[in-house]
Amino acid sequence: MPERARQLAYLQRMGIEAWVRRVPPTAEAPMEPAPPAGAMSSPAPQSVADDAVAALDWTALRERVLGCTACQLHATRTQAVFGVGNPDADWLIVGEAPGAEEDRRGEPFVGRAGQLLDAILRAAGQDRRSAYIANILKCRPPNNRDPEPEEIGCCQDYLARQIALIRPRLILAVGRIAAQHLLATDQPIGRLRGRVHRWGEAGIPLVVTYHPAYLLRSPGEKRKAWEDLQLAMQSARQPVEAAEQ
Ligand code: URA
Repeated sequence: MPERARQLAYLQRMGIEAWVRRVPPTAEAPMEPAPPAGAMSSPAPQSVADDAVAALDWTALRERVLGCTACQLHATRTQAVFGVGNPDADWLIVGEAPGAEEDRRGEPFVGRAGQLLDAILRAAGQDRRSAYIANILKCRPPNNRDPEPEEIGCCQDYLARQIALIRPRLILAVGRIAAQHLLATDQPIGRLRGRVHRWGEAGIPLVVTYHPAYLLRSPGEKRKAWEDLQLAMQSARQPVEAAEQ
């Protein structure tokens, strides 16, 4: 199937009409300036987890997460949800926290929102084997409430270590909680979309988009999610040297 036809089929599965793109693609993704050498583009948030997490390999990190009792969520979880995908992924998708289905199955984004995320990934030429999918929180907050700051503090070294081990070309932050935490800001998601941010000392390009659960509730916003995805694809295609400048 020709590339355009395949893309249209994916868009249809995402529930997006094959309308004409309003914003013509630019030669370069709008990119926030890289931080000066040695500077963090997003400040390192406070952590209550063990410093040694930064030295763990994949196996030890997974074990640490699965056995973690650092916050109250361990008492109500079925299991911790570590993450899934390619440890050498170009694309890292970061969501908020496991829901009921993820808590049961031990894998991120396996409910209805996960099916939409799969369609979004396919539209970008990715899937859950080529990309890596993780959450800010590894354990389910009861009744799917928003994560508490202390819970995020307990988990953040785990995600930071996952990012360091994967060294992705692109981080796609899905939803307000993931975006605000990764960028250490309280700006609304509408202000964070539409540009390429940088994460951490490595200045990894980071694009913000809506959470698939929100898109299920507000299908009219899928058009904007498609624009975000195009920005993410553009950014991920840029040579690594350009992204690291
Ligand atoms: N929502 C998320 O943010 N993460 C999941 O894993 C599932 C739903």
